[in-house]
Amino acid sequence: MSLKQVTVIGAGTMGNGIAHVFAQTGFKVTLVDVQQSQLDKALQTISKNLDRQVSKGALTEADKTATLANLTTATSIASGVSAADIVVEAATENVDLKLKIFGEIDASAPAGAILATNTSSISITKIAAATKRPEKVIGMHFMNPVPVMKLVEIINGYATDAGVTNTIVELSKQLGKIPCVVNDYPGFIANKVLMPMINEAIYSLYESIADVESIDTIMKLGMAHPMGPLQLADFIGLDVCLSIMNVLYYGYGNPKYAPCPLLVNMVTAGKLGVKSGEGFYVHTPGSKELVVSASFKK
Ligand code: NAD
Repeated sequence: MSLKQVTVIGAGTMGNGIAHVFAQTGFKVTLVDVQQSQLDKALQTISKNLDRQVSKGALTEADKTATLANLTTATSIASGVSAADIVVEAATENVDLKLKIFGEIDASAPAGAILATNTSSISITKIAAATKRPEKVIGMHFMNPVPVMKLVEIINGYATDAGVTNTIVELSKQLGKIPCVVNDYPGFIANKVLMPMINEAIYSLYESIADVESIDTIMKLGMAHPMGPLQLADFIGLDVCLSIMNVLYYGYGNPKYAPCPLLVNMVTAGKLGVKSGEGFYVHTPGSKELVVSASFKK
C-alpha cells in the first residue's frame, strides 16, 4: 500500500513531533487540533527543532524548507482527514475523547485509510470498536521526543489485519524508526514494564528503604539508566504514572500493580513533577540542578 497523505490529530507534545518526522520523510501532512493556538505553537516548535537539526549538520536549509512545505493545518477533523491514507491520532489521553474522535475520523476518512493511535494506555481494541473498520485500527506508539527516539511500539488490536501491521512496520522503518510489534493488553510492553519499576521505586521511598537520591543513583549507575526512576516519573508526570498504574491494576486485576499510596497522595496534593514545578524534585525553569523536594529531605 502506498501511503502519501498523513493526518495527525492533536498538535501537542507528541503530535508536533509525529508531524515533524512524517513531513521530513516527504509525506504530505495535515496537522489537526481543536485549538488554533496549539497549531501555531506546533509549527513554531517544528521550525525550531528543524533549525537545531540544520545547525548540527543533520539537515540542510533546503530540507528544512521542504519539510515545512509538506505541512498544513486544520481545526476540523472532518476536513482534515478527508484525503488521508493514514491518520495518526495523538490527542489528549482520555478514553471518551478518543472514542468520540475515532467515530468522527471513521465517518470522514476514505474507506481504505488506516487509523492509528499514539495512546500510551488505552485499549486499541476498544478504540477500534468505535469505528466500522476495526481491522484497519492499530497502535503506533511513538516515544518522546519523537524526532529523536528510535522506537515505535506497534500494537495489534484484537481485530487488526496482518496486512495493516506489515504496512505500519514498513512505514515506521521508512521514518527511520525501529518498530516492535506487540499485542493489545494493558500497558502494552513499554508501560507494563516501566511503570511497575517506577512504582517500586516510589514504594522503596514510602517504606523508607532509601532516600530519593540513593534510589535514583543506584538505578542510574547500577543499571546504566540515563536517569533514575523517580526523576523519570517527574518528567512523565505523576498523574500520568498513576493513571497508567490504574490501567494495569484494573486491566489485569492483579494486586501487584496497585499504585503506591505515596504516589496517590502526591497526585492528590497536586505535586505532579516537572509540569507542576515539584514532585520528587523541585524543578525551576531554566535550571538543570537536581534539587530533592523538601518533603523527602530527612
Ligand atoms: P498534549 O496534551 O501535549 O496534546 C494533546 C493535544 O490534543 C492538545 O493540543 C489538544 O488541544 C488536542 N486535542 C484535544 N482534543 C482534540 C480533538 N477533539 N481534536 C483534535 N485535537 C484535540 O498531549 P501529548 O503528551 O502530546 O499526548 C498525546 C497522546 O500521546 C496521548 O494519547 C498520550 O498518551 C500519548 N503519548 C504521550 C507521550 C508523552 O511523553 N507525552 C509519550 C507517548 C505517547
